[in-house]
Amino acid sequence: MLVEKISEMKSVTKRLRFEGRSIGFVPTMGFLHEGHVSLIRRSKQDNDITVVSIFVNPLQFGENEDFDRYPRDLNRDLEILREEKVDYLFYPSHKEMYPDGFSTTVEVKGITEKLCGAFRPGHFKGVTTVVLKLFNIIKPDRAYFGLKDFQQYKVIERMVRDLNLDVEIVGCPIVREKDGLAMSSRNRYLTDNERKGAVLLSQALFEAKKMFDLGINDVSKLKEEMKKIIQSNPEVREIQYIEIVDSETFEEKVKAEKGDLIALAVFVGDTRLIDNIQL
Ligand code: AMP
Repeated sequence: MLVEKISEMKSVTKRLRFEGRSIGFVPTMGFLHEGHVSLIRRSKQDNDITVVSIFVNPLQFGENEDFDRYPRDLNRDLEILREEKVDYLFYPSHKEMYPDGFSTTVEVKGITEKLCGAFRPGHFKGVTTVVLKLFNIIKPDRAYFGLKDFQQYKVIERMVRDLNLDVEIVGCPIVREKDGLAMSSRNRYLTDNERKGAVLLSQALFEAKKMFDLGINDVSKLKEEMKKIIQSNPEVREIQYIEIVDSETFEEKVKAEKGDLIALAVFVGDTRLIDNIQL
């Protein structure tokens, strides 16, 4: 069932809570794929009711980013949600979420300044603000986030802990295409040649993990090898970062250890793709 108004979404979930039903929540920006579906299925397993939201959140896009051209297809999404037997889709307008005079934000410090945060100022502030709003509207028991956006998952966890929110944050594994490319709504932007080049991102991560498993823990050596793999394709326009960091603090490592995160952001053509793997 499609719900567009905040007041209606609030009264629906209030009634559900009153009836003693557990609520799982999957926030998305739509243009759904198997990655989103994996979160939905996990939520359906864990909860009586699953609410999915689709909202392309202007607050988390930078000025020169792809807010205007971000892929949108509500009818296609509705079909997927029906197939997955999702109970409610929350689909608010921008006006509904950010009415005139809106002027409050919530910001996690520290870990938001690393990795993607260093290149997308304000991005995580936009994410935490919209997610906190959505949590307040839906008041879910559990909320599901993909490890594809590992930093986002950790930032949300931090916000929930710091602000004592009553929601359990569940991280779900990265869903990949057959050749290893992490699924993303943004893959839609890639030309055929770029799509072929994009596979090198995951290949570089898998290769670094293989080297680490063989005993190579020198971060500069691992990064050098990944760079070489990724740069072997002419469609790669720019490596924004390749980092090996502590997966809690996001501090850079010199020697990699089990549990560390290898994360990267790369422009393939004009499309910025991110991926990661945990050692
Ligand atoms: P998005 O619509 O891109 O904002 O993503 C909504 C949620 O789906 C986020 O929690 C993402 O981390 C998650 N997600 C996106 N792609 C994947 C994927 N390939 N595997 C697992 N989760 C994903």
